[in-house]
Amino acid sequence: MGDCIFCKIAEKQIKADIVYEDEQVLAFKDINAQAPVHVLVIPKEHIPTLNDIKDFSITSRLMAVITKLAKEYKIAQEGYRVVANCNAAAGQAVFHIHFHLLGGRNMQWPPG
Ligand code: 5GP
Ligand code: ZN
Repeated sequence: MGDCIFCKIAEKQIKADIVYEDEQVLAFKDINAQAPVHVLVIPKEHIPTLNDIKDFSITSRLMAVITKLAKEYKIAQEGYRVVANCNAAAGQAVFHIHFHLLGGRNMQWPPG
C-alpha cells in the first residue's frame, strides 16, 4: 500500500531474506538484527498498527508462524522474545504490523 516498505517486501519489489511464506503471512530477517535470531513476521495485508486489526484471526496465523520458526531456529527451549511495537511511545518505525522474533542470546527485562 502506497510507499509501505513491508508491502513492497511482500510484493517482492524490495529484496529481503525471506524465511517463511504462505498466502497470508511472510517472515524475513530484520535488516538490523538485534540478536542472533531476529525475524520479522508480518501479514501480507497492510494493517498500519495493532490498533487497526479488525479480524483477529490473522494474529493466530502470525503466532503459529512465530512458534514454528522458534522451533526451527532451535531457540524454543532456551527461550525467545516476541515484540510488537505500537505507535510512537513504543518506537514503532514501520507502520505495517509486525512481530519481532528475537532469540539466541539472553534478554534483559525490563526492556528499554
Ligand atoms: P519497529 O520499530 O517498527 O517495531 O521495527 C521495524 C524493524 O524493521 C526494525 O527492526 C528495522 O531494522 C526493520 N526494517 C526496517 N526496514 C527494513 C527493510 O527494508 N528490510 C528489513 N529486512 N528490515 C527492515
Ligand atoms: Zn504495508
